[in-house]
Amino acid sequence: MKIHEYLARNLFAEFGIPIAEGDAAQTSDEALFIAHKIGFPVVIKAQVLAGGRGKAGGIKIAGNEKQLVYEFNRIKNLNIKGYCAQRLLIVKAIDIKKEYYLAVTIDNIKGDAVIIASAEGGVEIEETAKAHPDKIIKFYMQGDKILDEARWGPVAVRLFNDARLQQSATSILKNLLKLFFEKDCSLAEINPFVVNKDGNLVAADAKVVFDDNALYRHPELIALRDLKYEDADELEAKDEGLSFVKLEGNVGCIVNGAGLAMGTMDTVNLLGGRPANFLDVGGSSNPQKVLNAVKILLRNKDIKVILINIFGGITRCDDIANGILTALKQIDIPIPLVIRLTGTNEKEAKALLTQAGLTIYTSMRQAVTQAVKISKD
Ligand code: GDP
Ligand code: MN
Repeated sequence: MKIHEYLARNLFAEFGIPIAEGDAAQTSDEALFIAHKIGFPVVIKAQVLAGGRGKAGGIKIAGNEKQLVYEFNRIKNLNIKGYCAQRLLIVKAIDIKKEYYLAVTIDNIKGDAVIIASAEGGVEIEETAKAHPDKIIKFYMQGDKILDEARWGPVAVRLFNDARLQQSATSILKNLLKLFFEKDCSLAEINPFVVNKDGNLVAADAKVVFDDNALYRHPELIALRDLKYEDADELEAKDEGLSFVKLEGNVGCIVNGAGLAMGTMDTVNLLGGRPANFLDVGGSSNPQKVLNAVKILLRNKDIKVILINIFGGITRCDDIANGILTALKQIDIPIPLVIRLTGTNEKEAKALLTQAGLTIYTSMRQAVTQAVKISKD
C-alpha cells in the first residue's frame, strides 16, 4: 500500500526525520492560509501516487500570493499519469545546496532489507543505477535490523565528507530504519535528501510503501489508504476473504491454496496460455466464496474461460461443486468453465456436477490444456 507524501511526511516527523514546514490544502484559500503561516517562497506539490511529478509539472515554487493561487489552480487541474490531485502540499521552499538519495527497501531476490544511498539524488535512482552503478551505495542488513549501528553506520559516513553531516545523516538513517521495520514497509525513501543553505539535512520528499501482508498489524495505517488508487476488484476480493491479483491474460483461474494457485498459473504459461489472475479461495471451502470469485472474474471482459482447479484437503470438493452450481443458477456465465477436482469428497462433487452436465477433470494437466485451448479459439 502506497500513501501520499503529505501523510508519509507525518510519519517522517513522528520518527524524527527532519522535513520542511507545511501542510496539505484542498482549496487555494487553505493554501494561502498555510503559506502565510510558513512564509513565502513555498513549493506547491501535487499529491498523486505517481513518481515523476516534477517532470509532469506537478511541482512548482511560488514567491507570492498571486503565483500561489495561479499555480494551485493549474496543478489542481493537471492530469498526472491518469490522476488528478485532490490535495496539494504547500511547504516552505528549501534553498537546496545539494540533493542526495537515501532509502531502505527489500531486495526480493536476496531476501534481505537493503539500504540504498547515493550522492546523486533528485533524479530517478533507477537511471543512475543503470548509467553509474558505482555511484550507488548498497548495504544489506543481513537480518540485523537497526541494532548494530557499527555495521550500517559507515553508509551515512560515506555519503558526506563533513563530520557534522555524517553524524546527522547517521541519526536520520537510524530513524528511517526504525520507521521501515516498525511499520513493516517495503520502501521508505527520501529523494531528494537535501543539504540546505544552512548546511542542514532535510527530507524534501517522502515516499513510504507498506507490505500489504503486514497491514493487519497496523490498523493506524489502514486509515491512510487512498482507495482511488487501488483496484476495485482486488479490494472487493479482499473483503470477501479471497486473495486476488489481476493479471493481463485471458484464462481466469479459481484455485484453492496459494501454492496451487501459483502452480496453476505456471502450468497455464507452460502450456502456452496466459493467466488472467491469481485467485486463492482459501483453505476452507465456503460455496459462497466460489460464487463471489466467479462474479469478480466475470467483470474482466478479456477472460475467455474460467479454470477451476481444486485439490481437496481441508477444502471439500462437494462444497466447491455446490458453489459452482449456485453460481450457475444465480448468474449468467457466458464463458466455458473447465473444472478439475480431486481429493476430499471428490466422488460426491463429481456426481453433483455431472448431473448438471459439466465435464470434470481429475488431471491438472488435462484441465489446463483444455482451458488454454479454449482461450485461443
Ligand atoms: P517527485 O518528482 O515526484 O519525486 O517530487 P519531489 O518532491 O522529489 O520534487 C522533485 C524536484 O523538485 C526535486 O528533486 C527538487 O529538485 C525540486 N524541489 C522539491 N522541493 C523543493 C524545495 O523545497 N526547494 C527547491 N529549490 N526545489 C525543490
Ligand atoms: Mn522525489
